[in-house]
Amino acid sequence: MSKSLPPRPEEEQALETRVIHVGQHPDPTFGAVAVPIYQTSTFAFDTPEQGADRFAGREGGYIYSRMGNPTTEALERCVASLEGGHGALAMSSGMAAVSAAFLAFLKAGDHVVGTDSVYGPTRLILEQELSRLGIESSFVDTADPGAIEAAWRPETRMLYVETPANPTLKLADLAACARMAAAREAKLVVDNTFASPILQRPLALGADVVLHSTTKYINGHADVVGGVLIAANEDDFKRLMRIRTYYGGSMDPHQSWLVLRGQKTLALRVYAAQDNARKLAPVLEAHEAVGRVHYPGLASHPQHALAEAQMDGPGSMIAIDMVGGYDAGVRMLKACELFTLAVSLGGVESLIEHPASMTHAGLSAEELHEAGITPGLVRLAVGCEAYDDLEHDLLRALGSV
Ligand code: PLP
Repeated sequence: MSKSLPPRPEEEQALETRVIHVGQHPDPTFGAVAVPIYQTSTFAFDTPEQGADRFAGREGGYIYSRMGNPTTEALERCVASLEGGHGALAMSSGMAAVSAAFLAFLKAGDHVVGTDSVYGPTRLILEQELSRLGIESSFVDTADPGAIEAAWRPETRMLYVETPANPTLKLADLAACARMAAAREAKLVVDNTFASPILQRPLALGADVVLHSTTKYINGHADVVGGVLIAANEDDFKRLMRIRTYYGGSMDPHQSWLVLRGQKTLALRVYAAQDNARKLAPVLEAHEAVGRVHYPGLASHPQHALAEAQMDGPGSMIAIDMVGGYDAGVRMLKACELFTLAVSLGGVESLIEHPASMTHAGLSAEELHEAGITPGLVRLAVGCEAYDDLEHDLLRALGSV
């Protein structure tokens, strides 16, 4: 007789399984396999005592959708499991997640060290908005631990890292960043949007908080804006929850349902797009119209070894420096057909954009130069189309350059 096997606990299941199942069990009311959309702003209490108990935290259950909603919570449970965190909070946009992280952990007099090429508006929040509240920031190449060290001040309370960085695809050594932050009582916050939890899990390397623009890989269909924050421990989770409850910025139930639906295929999409990027990168590198190709999967990437150690794959974002500079870049953008001329990334469709004049247009010429964003840099977000068609589109466009 064969021995019966016990069920496998959720935390021992592969990411590819968890992304489909965690938080998404059949609904108890009618057995709906897809999580229902609980499209409600408020929840009825059975008795006044129950309402009081929920407000006082003596009883679980829902109160009001800004504070929590079953559809949103299904998404949060799943993302928290993928990232290996204590809990997750879904937000109305990636920028709502970024600002909640700043508001939760910083106060007047604090200082932040951040990656120099972070997503433009993230840098602008710190430089133009939080500076008004007495919070200062310095931006450095976080691929260089010496640069982080040099920018550190006694009042530094947060190290804010994007790795791979946008659009230069430089990496930060997350374990080293975590050691540095922990030794000085600062939080390490990582924007993991470019890698997705399928390819990189910063909490396991010591980060305190991870965030995503779910607009990108997690939703994956270029049709919903959203964000999520994941905290490693309960205290940080509660702090972020308080910020979301007070300031707002929660993801709404319908938005949550769409993201949850898109997220089911996260692993499939990430692997398919990555297969395409892995094949395209060397083809681009060999092309005469292309100078440097920035892609962590290439042996020529200065941090290729770190990418192999820290990530489960190099992903599907590639940046190329056009030999002919800005004019060649513009001709390339105009000539592409399958690669749609649009910002954003992480959807099934391939996109192409020019960081210096689009996503990073808010940076001064000097800041662009320091961040390595040249006038001829073109960013490719490789999607899930058939490889041959993508290669044909790029070679045709490069030929016209
Ligand atoms: N973080 C990164 C790395 C991004 O690329 C973006 C958007 O492009 C954001 C954050 C902001 O996300 P959202 O547009 O969903 O507010």
